[in-house]
Amino acid sequence: MADAYDVVVIGGGPAGYPCALRAAQNGLKVACVDEWKNRDDKPAFGGTCLNAGCIPSKALLESSELVYRAQHEFAAHGIKTDVSIDLATMQKRRATIVRNMTGGIASLFKSGNVTGIFGHGRLLSGRRIEVTAHDGSKSEVTARHVVLASGSIPTELKSLTFDHQSILDSWDGLELTAVPKTLCVIGAGVIGLELGSVWRRLGAQVVVLEALENFLAIADQQLANEAARHFKKQGLDIRLGARVSGASVASNGVTVSYSDKTGAQSVVAEKVIVAVGRRPFTANLFAADTGVALDERGFIKVDDHCHTDAEDIWAIGDCVRGPMLAHKGKEEGIAVADAIAGNYAHVNYDVIPSVIYTAPEIAWVGQTEEQLKAASIPYKSGVFPFAASGRARAMEAAVGFAKILAARDTDTILGVHIVGPMAGELIAEATLAMEFQASAEDLQRTIHAHPTLAEALHEAALAADKRAIDIMNR
Ligand code: FAD
Ligand code: NAD
Repeated sequence: MADAYDVVVIGGGPAGYPCALRAAQNGLKVACVDEWKNRDDKPAFGGTCLNAGCIPSKALLESSELVYRAQHEFAAHGIKTDVSIDLATMQKRRATIVRNMTGGIASLFKSGNVTGIFGHGRLLSGRRIEVTAHDGSKSEVTARHVVLASGSIPTELKSLTFDHQSILDSWDGLELTAVPKTLCVIGAGVIGLELGSVWRRLGAQVVVLEALENFLAIADQQLANEAARHFKKQGLDIRLGARVSGASVASNGVTVSYSDKTGAQSVVAEKVIVAVGRRPFTANLFAADTGVALDERGFIKVDDHCHTDAEDIWAIGDCVRGPMLAHKGKEEGIAVADAIAGNYAHVNYDVIPSVIYTAPEIAWVGQTEEQLKAASIPYKSGVFPFAASGRARAMEAAVGFAKILAARDTDTILGVHIVGPMAGELIAEATLAMEFQASAEDLQRTIHAHPTLAEALHEAALAADKRAIDIMNR
């Protein structure tokens, strides 16, 4: 007879595995099925995020930033170094972090009473799940509730199909064993900027081709302009309004053809990383008679509570609408596990922080100035430059700013945008403030330790009312 569970989660990425763990914490009998295999052919939980996304990219960003700082900042501290790069050790460190983190999920499953199953899961009618193990053998389990957490995969351009040798996806781009002399990145989005930064810092000449005329169009444009200035200084050659039309691979590299305002152009590079977005992955995930439906963009259709069109079938993470972020998927997973157990469950989609882990880091939460203007919402803005932060100066990292947007009438914080050192950590305070619907005055009256980078938020909040202390108010 098929094993019967209260909850079966299909997909063990950052949406699926927390869902499984929380469901087990809620006293339910839980299994999590995941088909991921790493390039050493070994299966692992953790999905894109742990194996080929967030974690390995941050490992390489950290290593390559240290190289950059040693080359460009140490001298100012009075430290003399002769820096050389051992990419094999750098990559080994990345792989070890990934192995330890994904192994950690297997341990959490064991101690948390989640049955981890490696293999492909396919939802059949009657909440039966057919599991095809990696050796091809098939079995079936049943569940009272099924959670689909199948994630996403890189979008491929018709004119630049991945050959995984010269034309790479983001996973390939993380596992290079030699620094390419020249690299072309298609897409100046989050992946393009993070991976472009890694290989630029390690010595590659990097050209980034972006189709849109605006740099980082989703971000507050004051933030985007400041970031663009620093990337240019670092030697990232970002070409906007570049519409890629094709590529040809030859022994001397890949020639990428594109057009911009001035006409037809091309760039030749040893490697090309295509980073033009990701799309939901639902291949062979559910049978047609399950009642689960996709929307017009290929995402699994869900309501505000991540429930699909089919009874007791839920879907979370990158395979459903909303930003493709690990922490968004995690909160959905926890909320669904709590909803299944009959507990309070809620995801606040208005307060999801975004972070780009470049140097300077870029982070924001809430609305941009452009969005407020478009919605005709009266607002006030307070900006504090890190150049006026003692801690940032001491760190030799006094670039960028913190910016707070608050409602002109109620003073409620509507958006916080930070470009500068540790922006990804600083945004947590702003996120908490917004979750509690804090006002700029609440931040103004909160004591911030001195000297810290967080004081920039305090001063930005003061600046919103022209009451900043450490800068001139305008
Ligand atoms: P995934 O992580 O994709 O996991 C889905 C899992 O389901 C996979 O293991 C897959 O094999 C499995 N699966 C799919 N179908 C089946 C099936 N039928 N049967 C069994 N198993 C199945 N986000 C951030 O928030 N911060 C970052 O810093 C960040 N950096 C990134 C860097 C890169 C290079 C990339 C590519 C992405 C990054 N992301 C980041 C995005 C983040 O990785 C995703 O938002 C996140 O992984 C989505 O989680 P998920 O659980 O929905 O899907
Ligand atoms: P993205 O949507 O962030 O950026 C894609 C970029 O490619 C956009 O600027 C788009 O205009 C451009 N583009 C699209 N088609 C193009 C074309 N034909 N030619 C040139 N440019 C083109 O997508 P991504 O960078 O691939 O990342 C995918 C997802 O992964 C994102 O949703 C992101 O949230 C997530 N991610 C998050 C992090 C993080 O949180 N730090 C890091 C990496 C990835």
